[in-house]
Amino acid sequence: MQMPLRLPFSSFFARRLSTRIVALFLGLLLLVQAAGFGVISATIEGSARGTLARELEIGERVWRRLLEQKADALVLGATVLAADYGFRAALSTGDVDTLDSVLDNHSARIGAEIGAWVDTGFVVRAVHDDGGAMADTAVMQRVAAELARQPRASQVALLGGRPFRFVAVPVRAPLVIGWVVMGFPIDRALLDDMRDLSRLHVVLALPGGPGGGLQPALSTLQADAGAALTGERVRVAGDAMVARHVALAADSDARVVLLRPVDTVVAPFRRLQWALLAITLLAVAVFGVVSVFMARQITTPLRSLVSASAQLGRGDYSQPLQHTDRADEIGGLAQAFDKMRVDIAAHAAEVRQLAYWDRLTGLPNRAQFRAAVREAIEAGAHNGGRFAVVMLDLNRFKHVNDVLGYRFGDLLLQGVTRRITQHGVRDGDLVARLSGDEFALLLPGADAATALAVAERIAASFERPLLLEDQTVDISAGFGIACHPEHGTDADVLLSRAEVATYTAKRRTASALVYDPAIDVGSAQTLSLLSELRRALEQGELRMFLQPKVAIASGRLIGAEALVRWQHPERGLVPPMQFIPYAEQTGFVRQLTLWVFEAAVRDWPQLAALGMERVSVNLSARDLMDSELPARLDGILARHGASAANFCLEITESAVMDEPQRALATLNALSARGFKLSIDDFGTGYSSLAYLKDLPVDELKIDMSFVKGMDRSAEDAKIVRLVVDLAHNLNLNVVAEGVENAAILAQLRALDCDEAQGYHMSKPVPVAELAAFAARWQQRRSEAASVALH
Ligand code: C2E
Ligand code: CA
Ligand code: CA
Repeated sequence: MQMPLRLPFSSFFARRLSTRIVALFLGLLLLVQAAGFGVISATIEGSARGTLARELEIGERVWRRLLEQKADALVLGATVLAADYGFRAALSTGDVDTLDSVLDNHSARIGAEIGAWVDTGFVVRAVHDDGGAMADTAVMQRVAAELARQPRASQVALLGGRPFRFVAVPVRAPLVIGWVVMGFPIDRALLDDMRDLSRLHVVLALPGGPGGGLQPALSTLQADAGAALTGERVRVAGDAMVARHVALAADSDARVVLLRPVDTVVAPFRRLQWALLAITLLAVAVFGVVSVFMARQITTPLRSLVSASAQLGRGDYSQPLQHTDRADEIGGLAQAFDKMRVDIAAHAAEVRQLAYWDRLTGLPNRAQFRAAVREAIEAGAHNGGRFAVVMLDLNRFKHVNDVLGYRFGDLLLQGVTRRITQHGVRDGDLVARLSGDEFALLLPGADAATALAVAERIAASFERPLLLEDQTVDISAGFGIACHPEHGTDADVLLSRAEVATYTAKRRTASALVYDPAIDVGSAQTLSLLSELRRALEQGELRMFLQPKVAIASGRLIGAEALVRWQHPERGLVPPMQFIPYAEQTGFVRQLTLWVFEAAVRDWPQLAALGMERVSVNLSARDLMDSELPARLDGILARHGASAANFCLEITESAVMDEPQRALATLNALSARGFKLSIDDFGTGYSSLAYLKDLPVDELKIDMSFVKGMDRSAEDAKIVRLVVDLAHNLNLNVVAEGVENAAILAQLRALDCDEAQGYHMSKPVPVAELAAFAARWQQRRSEAASVALH
């Protein structure tokens, strides 16, 4: 039964529990009924057979009695004749005529068809014969002889083809002098008597049939008596009958056959069977209805449980389960299911809560904010509505976390949340925390100007330091704004553009910036640019240019700064400002730095040959966060057999200030390896000089925004002088970049600035052109020297 049947009906049965229950019930019922029916039928059959056998047995006895009674009557008549005076007188006188007449009289009186006087020699002396059957005296003699020996035997013999029953009575005077023999025929009347008495059919069968067999001589049957002779179970004129054969004479096959129709016996039993069948059908009907009802009782709630669990599977926990009020197991199951539903619903609500809310601040999280922006866009599609996304990123939050600990960082974020919600938010605005120190506002109906005003209000609220557990903490942030629909009609585009604006604002140390395609050649382009950059690196499209640095006092070519270029197959030579920011955003800049460093190391021998002391390479903020950078640089140096002392690494102030702790760790590691370190673009940042003191740097590069204009602006010249003095006070080498003319160079010489870099000497050039520059420069120096001499 375990074998999986694949017939369609079996799968139908397997599918419907109710069908299985009903089929099982009805099947069992039919089985029981069929067994009962079989037993009863067998019993009926057996008892019918018994009844028939008994009836036939009794029939045979009746038949024999009937014959005996008639025979007794003949014996009586013959006895009377034997005592008759006239008969005895006629015997003694031998008067045959008288003998005949006496025989005739007596025979007629007692109804014997045959009467005879047989002497002691068994010779038939006188005969009375009604039907003329006595032609065969030999038979008479044989019968007489038999009867003389056994007077009480039932002697039947055929005379003239008809069966007769004979009796014999001896005549004594006083010795036996002969016998009176009398016989009557077994005839139609006898058979009818038998039928009346026993209700059996009787067939008299005598020899003489075709082939020497028996043939029916007389019969109480209407027709087809011959069929009755064929056995014990016969079929006569279509009716089944049971037969009993009773032999008539010892010396002959002649017999009577007693017959009983089976139907008459079985009929009452048949009625019983029909009644039983009717009861069975009724029971099947009742059972069917009841079991369908019972099955429904079970399967209907089961089905509703199945559909309820499917509903749960689809995430719909709102529908309470049915049948929970039942007191039985199904009720228990429904209750258990319903409890599960409630629990899952609660759990799901919790998960939703987690998925959409920020635990720390209680604000919506990025997912919810994104969904809200989407909704606003969809709503805007109908009412053309505008809205603005303001994003803000705290400055130096990681620093707070590192220095003051995470718990303090959490308190700070909560304080910031309060400031934002208290100062930036109107009804209907949404404030969310997107990630660590990144927050965002969704301002329905706002344009760029309104959003800027909100950003400035929040920025103003940040000006007052936060008071956290007796500590005051300065907070500031960069704000970026993207407006719908002008900056994007897609939630992700809007968010990433607001982010680009924020990032740019922070870099420019502006407090708030509205997105502008100029600051972002397209966020979508960023990715394709990134893959292009990768390709550029792999296919050798990057070039290293070198810009010479000269010692101002001696005029000697003392070093060079390595600056990257991209030899784009279509766009030509791409300046670094067009791809370095993307490389920084995506982190690809780390690979770029390694590439430039390796190029510088590789070309170092040529530079050294020109008399240079060292070459400078720029590092980005990302590089400083990379704790593996020092080891990687080591590896490159080792491969080329170069020394760290010949390389200066330029870092901007802001790169250090992003995460001073980690930056400091990297800088220390680099310094320990012998690298020179330089602070690039000095003067544009806002770092405190206190930090500068602790950094392991060797050099300051004055930002060219001061240098380029110092020949015209006294203010700029003053700043340059201050920086030069500061550097010297801190024992640092000082470099001026953006030296565009001889006047500036002369001013720098007067200020005692150490080195100069700028277009006045040379633009950045490929390494191959450096030798030519060196020669030209030498030439200019000697000319200047001779001018000075004369
Ligand atoms: P930077 O490090 O301040 O590089 C100096 C920039 O000033 C160079 O621009 C140089 O060509 C330019 N310059 C030099 N002298 C003069 C002058 O007399 N007048 C004017 N107006 N400009 C002058 P460049 O090569 O376009 O590089 C721009 C910036 O790109 C660099 O500024 C640096 O921040 C970045 N950068 C360039 N190459 C690399 C690199 O290999 N790695 C990294 N991380 N950044 C790089
Ligand atoms: Ca630089
Ligand atoms: Ca610079």
